[in-house]
Amino acid sequence: MSQVPGIRERLRQWWLRMRCPTEFLCDNCMYDHGSSCIRPQRPNAVKCPDYKPNS
Ligand code: SF4
Repeated sequence: MSQVPGIRERLRQWWLRMRCPTEFLCDNCMYDHGSSCIRPQRPNAVKCPDYKPNS
């Protein structure tokens, strides 16, 4: 399995970054509270496969 993200995943990450108004994804992520997210990059993630923008 390749470690390099495919074009679809890179486009998705780019689109999510465009939708994020803050420097760090976590600041705008619906999982950034309590124990909803145990990723080590929280709270300063700039790239995250689980990022879900607050609507
Ligand atoms: S899911 Fe990713 S972006 Fe969201 S809070 Fe966790 S580390 Fe941050």
